[in-house]
Amino acid sequence: MSQTFACAAIAFVLTAASSQAEGPSNPAPAVRSTYRAELAPAVDAFVEKNLAAWLDAYTDLHAHPELSLHEVEAARKMTERLKAAGYETTAGVGGTGVVGVLKNGEGPTILIRGDMDALPIVEETGLPFASQTRTKNAEGLDVGVMHACGHDVHQTVLFATAQALSALREKWRGTVLIVAQPAEEIGRGAKMMIDDGLFERFPRPNACIALHVNGNFAAGTTAYTPGWALANVDSVDITIHGRGGHGSRPHESVDPIVTAAQVIVSLQTLVSRRLDPTDPGVVTVGSLHAGTKHNIIPNEARLQITVRSYTDATRAKLLDGIRQIATQTCRAMGCPADPDILVHEEEFTPAMYNDPALSEAAAGVLRNVVGEASVQQIKGQMGGEDFGRFAKQLGVPGFMFWLGVVEKSRFETSRKPDGAPLPSIHSSRFAPDARPTLATGVRCMTSLALSLLEAK
Ligand SMILES: [Zn+2]
Ligand SMILES: [Zn+2]
Repeated sequence: MSQTFACAAIAFVLTAASSQAEGPSNPAPAVRSTYRAELAPAVDAFVEKNLAAWLDAYTDLHAHPELSLHEVEAARKMTERLKAAGYETTAGVGGTGVVGVLKNGEGPTILIRGDMDALPIVEETGLPFASQTRTKNAEGLDVGVMHACGHDVHQTVLFATAQALSALREKWRGTVLIVAQPAEEIGRGAKMMIDDGLFERFPRPNACIALHVNGNFAAGTTAYTPGWALANVDSVDITIHGRGGHGSRPHESVDPIVTAAQVIVSLQTLVSRRLDPTDPGVVTVGSLHAGTKHNIIPNEARLQITVRSYTDATRAKLLDGIRQIATQTCRAMGCPADPDILVHEEEFTPAMYNDPALSEAAAGVLRNVVGEASVQQIKGQMGGEDFGRFAKQLGVPGFMFWLGVVEKSRFETSRKPDGAPLPSIHSSRFAPDARPTLATGVRCMTSLALSLLEAK
């Protein structure tokens, strides 16, 4: 069902001038977004006709999740489906990544991305198609595997949108670039695909779009954030070197635990005292390990820290501050050596910046598809998603929107004062209401892609 508002055609030209001053300075080429109200009945009819098959594909993907870097079956299924939909399909792009290209005349190239990996979680949804999968993780531990981040929804919407755009190819001109990405959960997949020539071997995109499920919104609804939407994510390890000894003779030791405590407290001043209060940042020490027994002062203490920011400058300020505080505190405490500080560059996830003009144009499309009341503008968050890397690398507009998944009555109950909290993504009980979620996802994504392609 589609509600068309009075402004049936919303036209925006997205250029570099549309970017906010604080956003990335991208020399973005112009891309036009025009809602194609006249195609809504055809999109809806296609969804109606294919939804049962998509639900089957979704339950199969949900029941057979694969961890990051192991998306072998998901990639095989994606490859088959894209080929069947008429896409020139290439597997093995950046590990298990799959790229589908549909060239359809002169016009812009639009990248549509979905991710394929699942999480090491034992599923507790009680669904009839719940995952029973167990595997060994990278450390060799036996773990359950679950699509707790909705990447099964993302995959289904991705190939379904590819099918819809292929079916409607008489109505648009341009190129659709379908990107089925591996290893999002470890922040590596987008980079792996780019490093493997995504932007050299395939048509170069003029805009990048994606969606992500969201456990805070009802199925059938969407949300979006213009500008900074998700954060730079850095992981930092610090090893503090003390000098161990007997717990009763601290004067003969250098206590790495007390030193670690000083470092942890001092790190709290990075965000509160060094950042502009209007510039978001997070420094969380998520793990502290030291010692084995009451009366032993250990030799070392180890910290693991997650660092979040939006801009490159703030990121650098926080990482430099961590190095400085850790090193200088260890020196002040008389440590025999400077601490080892490791910033895991391979796990870095760049912030996601939703081009403001594209965001507003896309929100206009979403409002036409699901109705004004079902599109919420929300604040940015400090979570991470490596989709931002595509647009950032290309210097073109990017946009990711949130897709609600919660069964309607369950959502309404949760809003009552005594309502049970909803399971978020990454929860063992995360269970999208598949039918309306998929239908809304495909209608929105297809309409958004059509708005960015050249009308025919
Ligand atoms: Zn996730
Ligand atoms: Zn995710």
